[in-house]
This record gives sequence, C-alpha cells and structure tokens, in this order.
Amino acid sequence: MEERIISGWKRPEDFDLELSLRPQFLADFIGQDKVKEQLSLFITAAKQRGEALDHVLLYGPPGLGKTSLSFIIANELGVGIHTTSGPAIERQGDLVALLTNLQPRDVLFIDEIHRLNRSVEEVLYPAMEDNVVDIIIGKGPGARSVRLELPPFTLVAATTRAGMLTSPLRDRFGVISRLDYYAHLDLQIIVQRASEIMGVEIDADGALEIAKRARGTPRVANRLLRRVRDYAQVKADNRITQQVAAEALALFEIDEFGLDHVDRKLLETIVGTFQGGPVGIDTIAAAISEEPNTIEDVYEPYLMQMGYLKRTARGRVVTNLVYEYLGLEKPNDN
Ligand code: ADP
Repeated sequence: MEERIISGWKRPEDFDLELSLRPQFLADFIGQDKVKEQLSLFITAAKQRGEALDHVLLYGPPGLGKTSLSFIIANELGVGIHTTSGPAIERQGDLVALLTNLQPRDVLFIDEIHRLNRSVEEVLYPAMEDNVVDIIIGKGPGARSVRLELPPFTLVAATTRAGMLTSPLRDRFGVISRLDYYAHLDLQIIVQRASEIMGVEIDADGALEIAKRARGTPRVANRLLRRVRDYAQVKADNRITQQVAAEALALFEIDEFGLDHVDRKLLETIVGTFQGGPVGIDTIAAAISEEPNTIEDVYEPYLMQMGYLKRTARGRVVTNLVYEYLGLEKPNDN
C-alpha cells in the first residue's frame, strides 16, 4: 500500500479508509433529509434542462458532510469535480487558471471559502454571475483588460462560518444549505455502514453507544469507531458490543455526552479561573493552549448545542448545566 504522510503521522490505513467511507451518492448519505431532498430536486431539474446546477453554499460545523456532499453533487450530475480551498488560492491568476480549465457543467469545490482573500473573491463575482473573467494583460500604460468566456459551471463552496462571508459573495449562491448536527439514530446507521465497509462486527447497541458519544458528527463517529475497533481487536475478540464500546471510550476519555478532555478543560477553566465568564475567546484559548479558531469551529458549536456555553457581547459564559456536569455547587448569582 502506498504510504502517505498526513499531519506528520504515517496513517495510510486511516487515510484510505476515510476515502472509502465517503458516501458517493445521495442514497448513501445518511440524515440531513431536508438538504438531500432539496439538492435532489435541484439536481434533477438541472439535468433535465441540460444546464449547470446553480451555485451551492454548504455551511455548518466541521465533519458534517460538506465535502462529501460536493462530491455527491458532481456524481449525481455526472460531471467532473475540481477541488481546492480558500487559503490555497493565493492570487487571482490561480483562480483564473482553475476556472478556465473547467469542462462545461463541471463542479468547482472551494472548501473554507470564508478564507478566500478579497482580491481573489472579486474574480468570482463575474465568474459566478455571467461566466466571464477579466484578466489584465501587460503592465503599465500598455496594460489592457481582456474578457474571457467561461464554460457554465457550478461552484460548490463550504464554510464553517457563513457569517464571515461578504454579502456580495453570499448573494451569488442560488442554493444555500445549512448542515446540522446529526441525531443519534442517524449516526448509529453511519457507524453500522462504516463497520460493514471496515469488516468489523458490531451490534446495534454497540453502534448506538458510539453514536451517542460522537458529538452529532459523522467524522467523529468514524474516528471513534476506528479506535473502538482497535480496542475490540486486542481485548474483545473483534466484536463491538455496547459494553466494549463504553469501556473503550472511557479509556479514551470520551464521556457519555461525547465531551473529551479539551471540552472539560475549557469548561473547567471558564468556571475555575474566570468565575463562569464572560471571558473573551482569546483569553480562553491562551489559558488552555488551544488555537482560538479551533475552539470556535470545533469545540464551541457543540458545547453551545448542548446548552453548556453561551456567546454574549462581552464574551463566553457557562450555563448552570456546567456546574451540574462538573459536579460543582452553583454560585448564587448564576
Ligand atoms: P466536512 O466537509 O463537513 O468537514 P466531510 O464531508 O469531510 O465533512 O465528512 C467527514 C466524513 O464523515 C466523511 O469522510 C464521511 O465518511 C463521513 N460522513 C459525513 N457525512 C456523512 C453522512 N451523511 N453519511 C455517511 N457518512 C458521512
């Protein structure tokens, strides 16, 4: 097997698994029924007319299936897909090169579109609206602008921060879909499907136990499954039951609500060091040695969804539930 280095770790097994676990068509994509129903309708309509699908913006926390959906959209349309990300497109010319290489009706997927720089973003406006790009040829007084026609294409963009998009960009998407955290039962099916692909034996309760601790997120569910599989292989005859899953996840310090040691440290720090808040995100980040962006994208949304954390104009505040969770007395004024 070819070895690839990911984040400094050699994990060929996990990397290839990640690819094979990705759903290929809408029918394999579990949950998010409203989003699927709408996309299916728009895809069918575009295919019937023989046109490119309108531009699609997918937003929501990491690991909920935005990248998977962009590949699914291309597969369902029967067209090619070119993938890139906001920070990877440094100059206008990079984007022009991508756009002019598209075949008619292809999908261009831009992940983390909120990190696109403004001058590059300006190239997108006419491309999305009129299928043209203006390029400047030459320098100084002799420079002239040349307009290039582009093939009709579909931009599928993903972001964890829809609020950071400029309104001219947001307004140019015909379809805007928000992905939400998954219900336990959907995640249970995702875990069962992934177990089948991985060839590991799991019963319904074992899958549900992993689902409950997966923070509503398929990527987390798949990651927990891989670690529980390791545990089952070494300690439990390769069979994942509810008890095996619970033992394994307790060993990995993932509690019954799916919170890990970073979540707990974050909550404990706000309570212990900052009297429950309000406290600014940068201060929290420094106190627990994490990146503010990681806290905002990965940890906070789930803690807010759980009702543990609130964002206020003056900073982050924990709720009474946190005192219960940490087994502490509630302060009187909280
Ligand atoms: P995002 O782009 O939102 O960060 P991805 O599309 O990369 O998320 O999804 C992460 C992984 O989770 C995928 O590789 C896939 O295995 C799994 N996944 C996501 N959504 C689903 C789903 N609805 N059904 C099955 N698996 C899913």
